[in-house]
Amino acid sequence: MAPVLLLGGTSDARALATLLVEGGVEVVSSLAGRVREPLLPPGQIRIGGFGGVDGLREYLRDNDIRLVVDATHPFATQMSWHAHEACAAESVPLIGVRRPPWEPTTGDDWRRVPTLAAAAELLPHVGRRALLTTGRQEVAAFADVPGVHLVIRAIDPPERLPAGAELVLARGPFTVEDELTLLREHVIDVLVTKNSGGTMTSAKLDAARALGLPVVMVDRAPYPPVPTAATARAAAALVSIALQG
Ligand code: NAP
Repeated sequence: MAPVLLLGGTSDARALATLLVEGGVEVVSSLAGRVREPLLPPGQIRIGGFGGVDGLREYLRDNDIRLVVDATHPFATQMSWHAHEACAAESVPLIGVRRPPWEPTTGDDWRRVPTLAAAAELLPHVGRRALLTTGRQEVAAFADVPGVHLVIRAIDPPERLPAGAELVLARGPFTVEDELTLLREHVIDVLVTKNSGGTMTSAKLDAARALGLPVVMVDRAPYPPVPTAATARAAAALVSIALQG
């Protein structure tokens, strides 16, 4: 049977690959190659970009792909739109896996912004010592923020660390206790994060709430209109229906 191409790089993608492989589905997981030592799911793996929409179309044709599942990070929007365009052009069905965004709860002080640039612009008006958890690729957006000491947490070091910034290398999941310790040790007065959703990294929000800290929350960009599941298990059910069709 022609394989399912699973665009991955997330814990949901790994969980889905596991479920599909266990169910006897042939899966090729695709990773962008951003993380030096990625956690690898079961099944086949390919690593690196496809070369835009045209490259992905060629890959779908060459590998006789029957179904694509987009389980990339909610902020990997370029890949999601490329997949949408390539699948439409090649008449290959596409399913999305998107964990729901975090929602503010009682006691939260969120300052919602549409982009990283808007977060950087707002930051000096909110705090003086920021914990940045936006991912290493996004650090450049904060390079010129005036009057704010940056503590950057990332899995791998960013290519360029902004002058004076501190780096904390760590990979989630984190507990609320971990996060409280980090926030207190660095005397953080504002948290900056993308609204990734999920439980792997949500403890920082609980910790910020407990300490009464504001959170600059970068909202998600629009996602292509495709059938979408919120969890790996729900996605596995959609895959099984699609493969029967
Ligand atoms: P992006 O901006 O949407 O993608 C940029 C380019 O990277 C794509 O056009 C594609 O290159 C390549 N790419 C992205 N995901 C890929 C995949 N799963 N397989 C093969 N190529 C991929 O995405 P990004 O922000 O660079 O994120 C890259 C990876 O990191 C994704 O797997 C994502 O799930 C993971 N990630 C991202 C974030 C985030 O906040 N952005 C956070 C955690 C993990 P071509 O055009 O050459 O095909």
